[in-house]
Amino acid sequence: METSQKILIVGQGLAGSLLADAAAQNGLLPTVVDDPRPPKSTSVAAGLVNPIVLRSLNKVWKADVALPEAVSTYARLEAMTGRQFFHHRPIFKFLNSNELKAWQKKMGEASLLDYLAPPEENPFDSQEFHSTPQVGRVLGSGYLDTQVFLEAMADWLTAKGWLARERFEHAELDLSGPLPQWRGQAFGRIVFCEGWHHARNPYFDWLPSNSTKGEVLAIESDSLRMDGRILSKGIFVLPVGPGRFKVGATYRWDDLDCEPTEEGREELLRKLQTIVKGPFRVVEHRAGVRPTTPDRRPILGWHPLYPSLGLLNGFGSRGVLMGPWLAAQLAESVAKGSPVMAELDVRRFWVDQAPDD
Ligand SMILES: Cc1cc2nc3c(=O)[nH]c(=O)nc-3n(C[C@H](O)[C@H](O)[C@H](O)COP(=O)(O)OP(=O)(O)OC[C@H]3O[C@@H](n4cnc5c(N)ncnc54)[C@H](O)[C@@H]3O)c2cc1C
Repeated sequence: METSQKILIVGQGLAGSLLADAAAQNGLLPTVVDDPRPPKSTSVAAGLVNPIVLRSLNKVWKADVALPEAVSTYARLEAMTGRQFFHHRPIFKFLNSNELKAWQKKMGEASLLDYLAPPEENPFDSQEFHSTPQVGRVLGSGYLDTQVFLEAMADWLTAKGWLARERFEHAELDLSGPLPQWRGQAFGRIVFCEGWHHARNPYFDWLPSNSTKGEVLAIESDSLRMDGRILSKGIFVLPVGPGRFKVGATYRWDDLDCEPTEEGREELLRKLQTIVKGPFRVVEHRAGVRPTTPDRRPILGWHPLYPSLGLLNGFGSRGVLMGPWLAAQLAESVAKGSPVMAELDVRRFWVDQAPDD
C-alpha cells in the first residue's frame, strides 16, 4: 500500500472508531493512537439517536441522510465485530394539551411524516409515572450502547494490529517533509479525533469551542416497567437492562471537567421525580464533556495551511446519529478527493478569525 493511503487517527472515541472503519471501507490503512487515561465522552454518553428536536418538534439538521447511514453502519459493524450495540427503540414524549396541539400540527408537515407517529393513548403505567393521557412517539430512534461499541471497535482494531494505546504528543509530529511523520513513520494524512481535548492541539487551537459538561445517573428499580421504551420529558429515561435505567442529562458550560457534582445529581433527581412515582436507587453517577461548536454543527476537514492534517470533531449531543455520515464523508475526501460540505468544513472558522485588513 502506498504511504499516501496510510492514515493516522488520534483518539479512539466515537469519532476515531467510526473514522477508522470508514477509512478501511475506502481502501485506506488506518492506525489509531489513543490515550486510555482521560475519560472518553463516548463512554459516558447515553448514546441516544433521535432525529427530532423534541422541544421544537423540528427535524435534526441532515437527519434524512445521517439516520440511514447510521443504521446501516452500526448494523454492518455489529456483523463485523460479532457484538450487539445498536438498539432500535421508540422515544416517547408525554403530551400536555398544548404539546398535543403542537404535535398534531407538526404531523401535517410532509418532511416529518417518517418521524412523528400520531398521538396515542399513554402506554406507561400511571401508578408508576406522572403521565398524561396522550403521548407522542418518535420513529427511527434508538440508542448505541457506547461502552460495548468502544470495546468491540478496540478489539477489531487490536486484532488488525491497528491500535496503539498511548498518548500522541503533538511535539513529535514532523511536518518538514512532503508527508507528515510521527516517530519516523510517514502517513498520507493525520486526523485528530480528540473530542473536547482538541483545545490542547497546537494545530487546531484557533477553533472556537463551546463544549458542554453533562452528567448522567444509572438507577435501579424493582417496580418500574418501560418495556424498552425511551421516555423524554426535559430529561430522558432509558431502559438499559432488567430493572436498570440511565437518566440524563445536564448541560453546563462552565467547570469543564469529568467530575460528577452534587448539583448535577440533585438536578437530575428533581426532574426524575416529576416523571417517576415509584422508588428507585441511584447506582452510578458519571460526567463527561461534549465537544460542541458555537454554531452547533460538527467540524471536519483539512487544515488551511497543513492540508495533510485533518479533524473530525464537534459531535455535540448528536454524535451517534451524525458520526457515521461524517466519518464516511471525511474518508471519501481522502480516498476520492471529494470536497467536504462547506457547512461542516473546519475552514469556516479559519475565515472567521482571519485579520480584517
Ligand atoms: C452526559 C453525556 C450524555 C451524552 N449523551 C449523548 C447521546 O445520548 N447521544 C449522542 O449522540 N451523544 C451524546 N453525548 C455526546 C457524545 O458523547 C460525544 O459527542 C461523542 O462521544 C464525542 O466523541 P469523540 O470521539 O469526539 O470524543 P471522545 O469520546 O472524548 O474521544 C476522544 C478520544 O481521544 C483521545 N485523545 C485525546 N487527545 C489525545 C492524544 N493527544 N493522544 C491520544 N489520544 C487522545 C481521548 O483519550 C479519547 O479516547 C453525550 C455526552 C455526555 C457527556
